[in-house]
Amino acid sequence: METRAYAVMAEKAELQPWSFDLRSVGSHDVQIAIEFSGVCHSDIHTGRSEWGDVHFPCVPGHEIVGRVSEVGAGVTTFTVGQRVGVGVYVDSCRTCANCLSGMSNYCLEGMTGTYNTPERDGKGVTQGGYATSIVVNQGYVVSIPDGLDPAGTAPLLCAGITLYSPLKEWGAGPGVKVGIIGLGGLGHMGVKFAKALGAHVTVLSHSASKKDDALAMGADEFLLTSDESVFVDHAKKFDLLINTVSAPLDLNLYLELLGLDGTLVMVGLSPEPYPIKAFSMLAQRRRIAGSMIGPVSQLQEMLNFAGEHNILSDVEVIDASYVNTSWDRVVASDVRYRFVIDASTF
Ligand SMILES: [Zn+2]
Ligand SMILES: [Zn+2]
Repeated sequence: METRAYAVMAEKAELQPWSFDLRSVGSHDVQIAIEFSGVCHSDIHTGRSEWGDVHFPCVPGHEIVGRVSEVGAGVTTFTVGQRVGVGVYVDSCRTCANCLSGMSNYCLEGMTGTYNTPERDGKGVTQGGYATSIVVNQGYVVSIPDGLDPAGTAPLLCAGITLYSPLKEWGAGPGVKVGIIGLGGLGHMGVKFAKALGAHVTVLSHSASKKDDALAMGADEFLLTSDESVFVDHAKKFDLLINTVSAPLDLNLYLELLGLDGTLVMVGLSPEPYPIKAFSMLAQRRRIAGSMIGPVSQLQEMLNFAGEHNILSDVEVIDASYVNTSWDRVVASDVRYRFVIDASTF
């Protein structure tokens, strides 16, 4: 089936309209008529060849919400017309220890990204959500709870799970003091999920203009990190810090905020390595950890939780023709808080 899309056709090229043939629907596949597709910073890093080789043409997009338009004969869990989502990966080896334990996002052979990744059968390269349709194996599709706004839900498929997974892993809940470093596409999801989980939530940002939004989203406190006294006044007060900032930070300063056995989780992707002083970690037996999205089962758990608490991303819905401008604005941090493309405009 032919699908309309926006693709990067060559190195340094802008996104442009492109049509291509989707793979036919296999017995365990779900074909999805895409409604909304979120714009993630990873799309830009990939499309602009900042993360290495790109398989051109490349259709980005891994925050996908739509309705099932066709199912294979072996599909048992989805029906035509149902609203579903697809996140950052669409396949994995399914046989390694991590896949077998339900942690396929950490597949030892590497997960198959939703775009710009060779298919495991060797037939072509995955193409993502900046398109009118996509075909995905049912094991990598999640259902979207009724009542959740589909545009505001799309960013949950990457930004949402990126924050939900470490919040759950490190026990965010009542009595736990959580700090979200940076209030952007990732950080604003962290505030909403941490608050709904019952934690005490503080936003740490260098931008005073984010204070009102942070509090409106449910943060209990806002700390302006350009004021260095913050790091003294709040030393050893946090249990969990999640760093969503993609620019270099002095992590030693932030580690001082953690109390005994506190953990600093890295989810933002700084291009530079971080210098860490050993004593920043020895004191209070602190830990630095990383986290990368979450498995499909947790994606579904997060969406169900979002449905119960009506958690959505704050989005600016755009037409496809605006997508190159939206990329420039994401790079300039000029979005509150996520662009979502109306797929009917591809
Ligand atoms: Zn993403
Ligand atoms: Zn695997």
